Amino acid sequence: MRILVVEDEHRIAQTIKKGLEQERYAVDIAYDGAAGYDLASTEDYDMIILDRMLPEMTGMEVCTKLRKKDNHTPILMLTAKSQTTDKIDGLDAGADDYLTKPFSFEELLARIRALSRRPKQSLNTKISIKDLTLDRQSFQIFRENIKIQLSGKEFSILEYLMRNKGKVISKQQLIDHVWDFEADVLPNTVEVTMRNIRRKIEKPFSNKKLVIKTVRGFGYKIE
Ligand code: CA
Repeated sequence: MRILVVEDEHRIAQTIKKGLEQERYAVDIAYDGAAGYDLASTEDYDMIILDRMLPEMTGMEVCTKLRKKDNHTPILMLTAKSQTTDKIDGLDAGADDYLTKPFSFEELLARIRALSRRPKQSLNTKISIKDLTLDRQSFQIFRENIKIQLSGKEFSILEYLMRNKGKVISKQQLIDHVWDFEADVLPNTVEVTMRNIRRKIEKPFSNKKLVIKTVRGFGYKIE
């Protein structure tokens, strides 16, 4: 999952990014509203964490403008004040949830999980497809009840494919949702990572049936 953080306080933005990266999310930062709006309209994010008070464009303006352009990426609005009017304004502008500063990182994570569980993407902490189970909370993968160790990016790719079960996902889509903006992704990075995933989740098992299907010239799919 790739998340955009729009926050003008650099220290807070960096802390959120660092924390979320440890949780296997890919994170981009924008330090003002206009930059945030530009990134949100050109890149394909799974979620936006949007501060309400921002230079250039306020969080409310960013939110309203995105919704007007039919961008329905889930938005978690950060607000410094706890007044009810603020919250209602934010929700009216099209935000999906809000969080009052200061907040604990655990609370932020809980909100992200709750938001991404909503129908649009129907995310769950645990996903199972046949004998393969992925647990996003503990970052564990099981097949035939055997625990498999995956690296961060391997985990993220498998998660993205499992959440989009039945759909063919292109390499570019994987790059867009698994790596952040500044990452150096070489053309064969996805293939190399995919080979490593297969070596771990397919080769060692008695049921040799492929878990991930390659759709030649396009991408991958899990059925
Ligand atoms: Ca701010």
